[in-house]
Amino acid sequence: MQAHDGMYIDGEWRPAAGPEKIEVRNPADGTVIATVPAGGEQDVAAAVRAARAAFPGWAATPPAERAARLGALRDALEARRDEIAETVTAELGSPLAFSHAVHASVPIAVCASYAKLAADYPFEEEVGNSRVFHEPVGVVGAITPWNYPLHQIVAKVAPALAAGCTVVLKPAEDTPLVAQLFAEAVHEAGLPAGVFNLVTGVGTVAGQALAVQDGVDLVSFTGSTAVGRQIGAAAGAAVKRFALELGGKSANVILPGANLTKAVKVGVANVMSNSGQTCSAWTRMLVHADHYDEAVQLAAASVAKYVPGDPKDEGTRIGPVVNAKQRERVTGYISQGVKDGATLVAGGPDAPEGHEQGCYVQPTVFAGVTPEMTIAQEEIFGPVLSILKYEDVEDAVRIANGTVYGLAGAVWSEDEEEAVAFARRLDTGQVDINGGRFNPLAPFGGYKQSGIGRELGRHGLGEYLQTKSLQF
Ligand code: NAP
Ligand code: MG
Repeated sequence: MQAHDGMYIDGEWRPAAGPEKIEVRNPADGTVIATVPAGGEQDVAAAVRAARAAFPGWAATPPAERAARLGALRDALEARRDEIAETVTAELGSPLAFSHAVHASVPIAVCASYAKLAADYPFEEEVGNSRVFHEPVGVVGAITPWNYPLHQIVAKVAPALAAGCTVVLKPAEDTPLVAQLFAEAVHEAGLPAGVFNLVTGVGTVAGQALAVQDGVDLVSFTGSTAVGRQIGAAAGAAVKRFALELGGKSANVILPGANLTKAVKVGVANVMSNSGQTCSAWTRMLVHADHYDEAVQLAAASVAKYVPGDPKDEGTRIGPVVNAKQRERVTGYISQGVKDGATLVAGGPDAPEGHEQGCYVQPTVFAGVTPEMTIAQEEIFGPVLSILKYEDVEDAVRIANGTVYGLAGAVWSEDEEEAVAFARRLDTGQVDINGGRFNPLAPFGGYKQSGIGRELGRHGLGEYLQTKSLQF
């Protein structure tokens, strides 16, 4: 695939300071598809300088003009829709149909939402005898993961730009190519030089440098809890703002009387999509004891439709995981589940038949999972579903809330009010009621160790603003 041998800094592609490179691999077969520069401290510092220099001008740009640039960015992404989908399929391994429907479409919709919000947002308000201005926080350091590579970029960059902030992005080393496409779209959209800057590189070098740069006012991170913890600690020590979108272990609670067939089918699809590499995935299915065996049978039938295949083939519903390390991590968890006494209903730790080469994992369903087991507590980030049994509603609430995470969840009931009442008792940032659709305007973010802050919609924009009050 085409790749830029440079960093996008101050409105142009510049050679990196050092010679280090990142090889981008296709996880379906392990081949190297492109090489991009691995930036270091010097590249990060140059990018932050460019962002600082561009900040006063962009912050003073009228919101209507910022909205127009975001509209142009949306159109530039739209024009690259097919290229985006093909690129994400090549570097992440997600099936092409899913890459089109989600990896390309969602960021385009989110970018459009911020074009509108930039125009409509009340950046000024009257509070008693005060006039309150909502001003941009400054230079944003954005560090993003590979699982929804473009979505996670746009979910940070679009609201930051709408707010009047300037940005330095360090994307995941596994998925730098779609980040380069995004930088091309920014350029085409006519954003002033330095407003958006891209430094590709590895987390422990470029990511680390960005997280501790003096010129960065806010660090926005999405990824693992382990790295998020370090970033929050460093930002706190520097009295710098930070936002963390971390992991999850979300519960899909099927209440007695719910449409079991539908709830299980949608629940399995939720976990298997993107090979289970979704922070908000409903990886714990909670079923009442009376319906448990039936739910396990339904889940086995549903998961059988997920046959691993080449993500480029049209009919493929599940591809590989992102890389060999992730495959080892996921299969390690599957072995742990077996060791802890859970029952394999489908899948297992071995490579799927005929896919010994790429980074494939068998779609796996465990029954007989108890709440304290590792597979019921830790984020696996692979195509692995655990089905747990509950005795009554109190038991279901306790199990659902019984992890360190609280990112998402689902509740199914024949009575919507009952589902809402149950959802109100969950310590989690989002709950889908009876299969409710993803809403790109709804605040997204975690309770507990799933994170700090919210992304998307007005709440996402608010993260990039600070207030100034003038009294009269
Ligand atoms: P990760 O290491 O947290 O990666 C997220 C981002 O942070 C990447 O851009 C990464 O760069 C960067 N990074 C890594 N170490 C850093 C450091 N010390 N300072 C600053 N930035 C740093 O996550 P991962 O290794 O890709 O995945 C590991 C696990 O994290 C997964 O199995 C999953 O459980 C979880 N995860 C969660 C999400 C989510 O959406 N919540 C997303 C991805 C992963 P590199 O790409 O170079 O590592
Ligand atoms: Mg990493």
